[in-house]
Amino acid sequence: MWQLNENTGILLKALRFAAEKHCHQRRKDVHASPYINHPIQVAETLWVIGGVRDYILITAALLHDTLEDTEATSEEINQLFGQEILALVQEVTDDRTLTKLERKRLQIQHAPLISNSAKQLKLADKICNVSDIIDSPPQTWSWQRRWDYLTWSEQVIDGLRGVNPSLEIHFDQLLVQARHFLNLQMQ
Ligand code: NDP
Ligand code: ZN
Repeated sequence: MWQLNENTGILLKALRFAAEKHCHQRRKDVHASPYINHPIQVAETLWVIGGVRDYILITAALLHDTLEDTEATSEEINQLFGQEILALVQEVTDDRTLTKLERKRLQIQHAPLISNSAKQLKLADKICNVSDIIDSPPQTWSWQRRWDYLTWSEQVIDGLRGVNPSLEIHFDQLLVQARHFLNLQMQ
């Protein structure tokens, strides 16, 4: 019989923590989906597509937007999940004091410099967002804006290559499909 181990308890704790922190947040799609769906999807993408079995990375995926988008603090994450998970979440957290344009530029610039685990996490995050750009896009975005998002994502991903071929191939295939879809709409 398959047995759960103590890492499962940490994953469940992270899931509850992220769900509580994101509870008043919604995604930007037309249904305003609960935000927590996104970190769950990123964690599952790492597991299913990326073949990731490192519980530190999967836990960090569940927490990856808490520092950037909620009231969660580094101290809380450190206390509840330890330094290693905190460091990983911090690596994928934008500096919210900067302008959006500057944050986007820095994501491209920093991509090659982050750890291999953080690279995989960002790959999974971009896979989920590009997938959303097609299936459940931000409702106010024009086709052009969606196209621009793909262009920017590709620039970030180009700095993350060489750590997880399965995630990279999946991203590349998704990007081809997304561009094909948008091309048809924009004609
Ligand atoms: P973002 O590019 O930051 O929004 C995309 C992010 O929103 C994603 O990375 C994702 O982040 C999150 N998100 C939430 N819901 C969805 C969803 N359904 N589908 C995809 N992503 C989702 O957009 P902002 O509105 O913050 O604007 C950022 C930049 O875009 C600015 O620099 C602005 O100047 C520029 N802009 C461009 C326009 C254009 O036409 N090209 C027009 C207006 C602004 P996460 O992974 O963190 O959840
Ligand atoms: Zn995210």
